[in-house]
Amino acid sequence: MEYKINHFFKKYHLDMFFQFSIISLCLLSFISCMPARISKCNVKINQKYVLMDDVRERLSLEYISEHYNLTPQKAHIDPRFIVLHWTAIHSFESSYQTMYPSTLPTKRKDIAAASQLNVCAHFLVDRDGSIFQLLPLPYFGRHVIGLNYYAIGIENVGSDTLPLTDEQVASNTALIQCLLDKYPGIQYVIGHYEYLLFEKSPFFLEIDPEYRTIKTDPGEIFMKKVREKLKDLYAKGRLKAN
Ligand SMILES: [Zn+2]
Repeated sequence: MEYKINHFFKKYHLDMFFQFSIISLCLLSFISCMPARISKCNVKINQKYVLMDDVRERLSLEYISEHYNLTPQKAHIDPRFIVLHWTAIHSFESSYQTMYPSTLPTKRKDIAAASQLNVCAHFLVDRDGSIFQLLPLPYFGRHVIGLNYYAIGIENVGSDTLPLTDEQVASNTALIQCLLDKYPGIQYVIGHYEYLLFEKSPFFLEIDPEYRTIKTDPGEIFMKKVREKLKDLYAKGRLKAN
């Protein structure tokens, strides 16, 4: 009887050992075949959409047609870029209210001739790093001439006289990592002031050669800090340098 019990346990242990080995091998081969995850998205994103009405849809489709010569069914983008901005407005609420309507405020005469669609990025990051989503993805946003069809925009409350904060650097970086996980097609993270570097790129769709503005946002210092935090992604080739 004792022999039988010992035999049973020995056999049982042996079976367990083989089962454990096989499961481990399966798991290892499964994990090695999975695409490498760059990061986990553990960022808190508050949803605070701007006005999503028929006017926005119509003006967005018109913009895509008139400026990019494309006629999609929906005003959706194909994200390849993330473009970082500052609002040049010193409070969150004023920044939000400026982007809220579907149509451009009358004071924006500089860009009104191009379209009545209001400017709006997909996200707005407050001075303390709080992130708010203003447009559902992958909805079209007007925030960067030429690249809107391929770009997700992140606005930050600040300006040249109110420099962006370290909390905004951290939140932008974390949000970018989430977006890279969600959209494998994103290759570039650029500051708005760098958009003209892509004028010759196939992603730059603006058909009016006169429609350009000079930008300085969100500042070279901010871009340097964000890129420093993303340096592993540049080293791995996940992100491309400009
Ligand atoms: Zn900008």
